[in-house]
Amino acid sequence: ESRRDPTLIKTTCCYCGVGCGIEIRRDRWGQLTLTGDPEHPANRGQLCSKGRYLLQVALDRDDRLLYPMWRPRREMPLTRTDWDTALDHVAATFRRLIDRYGPDAVGFYVSGQLLTEEYYVATKLVKGFLGTHNIDSNSRLCMSSAVAGYKLALGDDAPPICYDDIEQSQCILIAGANPAWCHPILFRRIEAHRAAHPEVRLIVVDPRRTQTAAVADLHLQIRPGTDVVLYNALAAYLIANGYIDPDFIAHHTEGFEALCAHLQGATLERAARLCDVPLADLQRAAEWIGRSPALLTLWAMGLNQSTAGVANNLALINLSLIKGQIGRPGMGPFSLTGQPNAMGGREVGALANLLPAHRDLNNPAHRAEVAAFWGVPALSDRPGLTATEMIDALEDGRLKALWIIGTNPALSQPELTRLERAFAHAELVVVQDISSRAATLRWADVVLPAAAWLEKQGTMTNSERRITYLPRLLDPPGEARPDVWILCDFARRMGWGHAFAYRDESEIFDEYVRLTRGTPVDISGVSYARLQCERSVQWPCPAPDHPGTPRLFTDHRFPTPSGRARLHPVPEPEPPEPPSPAFPFILTTGRVRDQWHTRTKTGKVARLNRHTPEPFLEMHPDDAAACGLQDGSVAEITSRTGRLQVRVRLTPDIKRGVVFLPMHWGQETETADGRANVLVPCRVDPISRQPALKFARVQIGPI
Ligand code: SF4
Repeated sequence: ESRRDPTLIKTTCCYCGVGCGIEIRRDRWGQLTLTGDPEHPANRGQLCSKGRYLLQVALDRDDRLLYPMWRPRREMPLTRTDWDTALDHVAATFRRLIDRYGPDAVGFYVSGQLLTEEYYVATKLVKGFLGTHNIDSNSRLCMSSAVAGYKLALGDDAPPICYDDIEQSQCILIAGANPAWCHPILFRRIEAHRAAHPEVRLIVVDPRRTQTAAVADLHLQIRPGTDVVLYNALAAYLIANGYIDPDFIAHHTEGFEALCAHLQGATLERAARLCDVPLADLQRAAEWIGRSPALLTLWAMGLNQSTAGVANNLALINLSLIKGQIGRPGMGPFSLTGQPNAMGGREVGALANLLPAHRDLNNPAHRAEVAAFWGVPALSDRPGLTATEMIDALEDGRLKALWIIGTNPALSQPELTRLERAFAHAELVVVQDISSRAATLRWADVVLPAAAWLEKQGTMTNSERRITYLPRLLDPPGEARPDVWILCDFARRMGWGHAFAYRDESEIFDEYVRLTRGTPVDISGVSYARLQCERSVQWPCPAPDHPGTPRLFTDHRFPTPSGRARLHPVPEPEPPEPPSPAFPFILTTGRVRDQWHTRTKTGKVARLNRHTPEPFLEMHPDDAAACGLQDGSVAEITSRTGRLQVRVRLTPDIKRGVVFLPMHWGQETETADGRANVLVPCRVDPISRQPALKFARVQIGPI
């Protein structure tokens, strides 16, 4: 226990939503070593390759931003300044723009990398004091379709299961996710469970034969964009063959009749044709799912990053609901969160359409409650701009200033050329980051150096609603500061110091905790002292003697007006972009095993770079031959929005007609331009506003 042993601290990995526990020891010579925490329930001592090299990333400070910088005009170089000058300049510009154009002329684009306390202060600052809802997180690019799906189906953004359900499941359906690479420690639990119980079935739905698909009992290699067709057909099969729970449906759901009517004609035969998978495989999957006493469904970006992201979620959740398999061990729907604290951001309301503690922005009573709590007259009733809408608004002049914290939109947003036009219009771009490698710095007028992991304290919530405490171990380099204190300092300069006069992060956490009282995410029983002692607690946890909640909806009551979960008849979506002979291939994008997002951290580690040294285009050999390309040759890829050149990697593991680019790289060299999002048009889901980062029609040829 770290409290008894001063040479040991326990913290949490700052990469993915699995939220693995980490121990860091200091020996008598001051040397630090990092290992997995054997007592942490998420990882039980294991770490993946990214987690194992975290200490190296933290201690290698060559790339770190060390002091504030600014420039009066963007064509000039950034020069060093001091904190007072930088923050006074930002505050004066924000004040001038708000006075002249109103509060919706400014916005914040924040990150699932932030700690909950940082997220909370940013939300309070923007929604309570700046007077706009223009704050959005890069979680918009990651999980917002799952948020909307949970709310529509279950009544709240509430992932119902816990990781321990893996070991009790009988059939696991993984859709649009490659956890073997992107959530490795969770996947090792799945592998261990299957090794111990060979009767457990694993079905993977993915257009690529990923590492996850390769070890599955059944891989449904569907055509991109046909997910709803597949899940509707499976639902129709379960209903037609009696693989449903009529009692659960009658007492705990609504919409079953409409769903049945909608599924007329949704046969497996039709799905086999439209999804382009063998009928026998679909029949096998339907039987395994139908007969399973405990179905677990896991999904990630493959479902969420789509113009039909919410529809994909709803069609998949329908399967768990008609089988009545939710709220009991080993079963239920479960979105795999990409970032370490995307959940924390959703909890504190750090998105344009949310309020703290799962309150509803469109509910006047909820707005009044939060305004009274923060001591401000009212919250705006105008909706905020989402991540991609902020870029549109910068371009057309509605948004004048954007403050970007801990995220790198110059590589991660769709249609990057659009970003360049938008940033060129901005009156003020503030970039608050840890790394000089962030491509977005190119557009910064003011740069604020932030403290990194281990250099600040706070909390995070992982995918299974588990809140953990992260202590501070190192001093930030140079003049870098924790994000939360940068924001409080700015608030003071704007004249709101009284509302941001926290003595330390625990006071911020306690304030947020009070705001959760009586809500679905009530954590009145959680404090820093408890987290330091017990290590982690799963929300809700409404009292100090409450043990936390591993599994939701155990009483089969749902937070909807009727108390029932909602079944949704999900129409088959149009493809995001119609087929075209000029762009015969479908491009999909994703991740490789040892890199994280835009590589500002993992790109510093030689051992991690060795796994995939440069960007590549994955392509089927028959498609490559038809395009005049060979393994290793450089291809030019063109879409309606851009063009880039990258080396081809041939594999039969990808579906014909589909090509794959990882999303991690920037413009590396002339023949290795990894900016995948140059090619992806900015199209969003109509409900979640999540961009369809996994779909572009492209043409491919030799250079
Ligand atoms: Fe970190 Fe995720 Fe790997 Fe765990 S699985 S060590 S949280 S990157």
